[in-house]
Amino acid sequence: MNYFYVGISKYPIQSLVYSYDGEIEEGARVFVDIRGRKRLGYVIGKAERPEFNVKSILEVIDKTSYIDEKMMLLIKESAFKYMVPIGEVMDLCFPPFKFKGKSVKSVEAGKYISLKISLSDLLKFKFTAEETRIVEFLLENGIVEYNYISRNFSKNAMKSLLDKGIVILTNISGQQIVNLTPVQKEVVMSIISNPYKPHLIHGITGSGKTEIYFEIADKVVQNGKKVLILVPEIILTPQLMVRTRKRFPNAKVGMYHSGLGSSRKIEWDEAVNGNLDILLGTRSAVWVPIKNIGLIVVDEEQDESYKQYAMRPYYNAVDVAKRRAEIEGAIFVLSSATPRIETYYRCMTGSYQLHKVVERTVGEIPEITVVKTGGAIFSNVLISRIEQVIKKGNQVFLFVPKKGFASRVQCEDCGYIFKCPNCDVPMTYHKIDGTLKCHYCGHIEPFPSTCPVCGSARIKRGGVGTERVEHEISKLFPGARIKRMDREEVKDIESVESTLDGISKREYDIVVGTKMITKGLDFPSIGLVGVIDADHSLGIPDFRSNERTFQLLSQVSGRAGRGVKGEVVIQTMDPANPTIKAVEKQDYEAFYLSEIERRRVSGYPPFKELILITSESTSEKEAFKNIEKVRSAIANGPFEVLGPAESPIFKLMSKYRYQLLLKCDDINESVDYLSKVIREDVIGFDPVNLKVDVGPYTF
Ligand code: ADP
Ligand code: ZN
Ligand code: ZN
Repeated sequence: MNYFYVGISKYPIQSLVYSYDGEIEEGARVFVDIRGRKRLGYVIGKAERPEFNVKSILEVIDKTSYIDEKMMLLIKESAFKYMVPIGEVMDLCFPPFKFKGKSVKSVEAGKYISLKISLSDLLKFKFTAEETRIVEFLLENGIVEYNYISRNFSKNAMKSLLDKGIVILTNISGQQIVNLTPVQKEVVMSIISNPYKPHLIHGITGSGKTEIYFEIADKVVQNGKKVLILVPEIILTPQLMVRTRKRFPNAKVGMYHSGLGSSRKIEWDEAVNGNLDILLGTRSAVWVPIKNIGLIVVDEEQDESYKQYAMRPYYNAVDVAKRRAEIEGAIFVLSSATPRIETYYRCMTGSYQLHKVVERTVGEIPEITVVKTGGAIFSNVLISRIEQVIKKGNQVFLFVPKKGFASRVQCEDCGYIFKCPNCDVPMTYHKIDGTLKCHYCGHIEPFPSTCPVCGSARIKRGGVGTERVEHEISKLFPGARIKRMDREEVKDIESVESTLDGISKREYDIVVGTKMITKGLDFPSIGLVGVIDADHSLGIPDFRSNERTFQLLSQVSGRAGRGVKGEVVIQTMDPANPTIKAVEKQDYEAFYLSEIERRRVSGYPPFKELILITSESTSEKEAFKNIEKVRSAIANGPFEVLGPAESPIFKLMSKYRYQLLLKCDDINESVDYLSKVIREDVIGFDPVNLKVDVGPYTF
């Protein structure tokens, strides 16, 4: 009789011991009995014969394990780092069981249909029953032969989806390959000749980063190795799939993400059996146990969808990918127009290699003007620019940051945003008691009477919303045709369609909108983008608010100058703010230098690693009592503890939330300490209502 440790998800950190009359490979899936129920588990290793009687493994699913030693190492390390049972990480490495579908064969030459808009945008649309069937089928299968669709679905519904721009028809034939520029070639050579160092390709959108990693992938595939390419959005995969297929007509390219239905299992099978050369996918694809990986690429490495935050384990796929590449001895390439501060720091300190691509192949770079505003919504500069642009018959897009949950407090004269003296993050105004609160450390102060920087008594809260902007702009330009575009105004497919249609037919002179409008939509006749309240995202209580502002404003600015020569006017109360200045000059380096210094001084990543512990309960008292219990239990830990503080969203789905923020010098030591202390037997309460997020992105 043999004995095995079996890891089971949603079960204690320690694996349970089971017996089996035979050999089982490490990493194999098995069925075991837990409290009378048949559950999926994973063999983690061999055990000694225990003192007590143990149950027998019911059934061995994998005669040979898909998980090799390298993958097992990655899984064990990740389970430790993210403080979850090994079974929970193992779950990520396999497709869900329930799907048994027909094969969708890989893409050959011919006509193909795929979705064109993002999943979140899809949810906003209303479809007919037949349109819904097609959309669901495409969501499951990604990219499908046109002939298959036209045989199995109504042609009218297909045509209507095409007309509305929901789906796109692509003709795949021949090979689409570009001649790399000398700069691109140099980057390729430099990466290939230094395969053991992580690489960052930094360059604005359209500067040719994708073509660079395609070239490297080509060489890796020719050497008989496999390539994994991670992208942020599910919906980007079909588009990139088409492009990849055109670039690699002779390679087998697969696609993997959690939105896939039946084809997920099929693509997984193909990948793990070594039948695919290139696998494209979202964050979950990092766990597909492909063997013989030669290259891992993370496109748009700054994108926050790489962090899983809504569900355990709260892993970061970029970190996992990096470790996986290290273990596998694969080349590791990150790509971004606005890399994370942490990533750029690693380039500057020499642990990553930086490659800059500066040439722009498409579009023109818009001119950016920053204007100081006080109390008024519109500066004179913006008003006169709007006038000029409308006169020329071009369009204006006024970007209004979506109203957040938090309301900042700011000096109207110098633009200073009130920050916590301990944490250097913006504090938020609380209506109920009229105080300012810090959500990191719990610091509270009364509403200020004067500005600590300039002494002004003109202190203001909050910002403006789309409705107010629409109202005011129509008073200023009574003759102009104005359209508001936000979640409330534009709710369903008809209104989105008619608005977009109206914009492209130039039925509107001025469009007032939120972030919703900026993503992926092209309006060639937009001559001016005005950012009404650039300070909004700077005022969000998060140490990354500068970084997000830089990324957001860079992206918004890119909306101008697609067709006509474009300009951007950014309104702020604090034009001297280093983040705003860097956006104005379109200077990532300058932004990096100011931000890295701030992080060093205040002790944020990359100088300290963070762990966020949140306690939740329907009873406010209970939530607070529990977080206090944790705080006293970890008081001697190898980290600095901030809090307890109310979470920025204090009440979520009828649960009250308190949090502690740990600043760690050594993340492994800290995690090791926490996993010993935060346990039911040590602090005596149900850890289900406790969330431990290592490397948090949302607070
Ligand atoms: P990025 O990944 O930086 O956004 P891409 O690699 O997608 O940039 O390039 C943008 C566009 O320019 C693509 O259509 C691409 O095919 C094209 N392109 C890139 N490099 C070259 C080149 N050397 N010659 C011709 N076209 C190129
Ligand atoms: Zn001031
Ligand atoms: Zn604080």
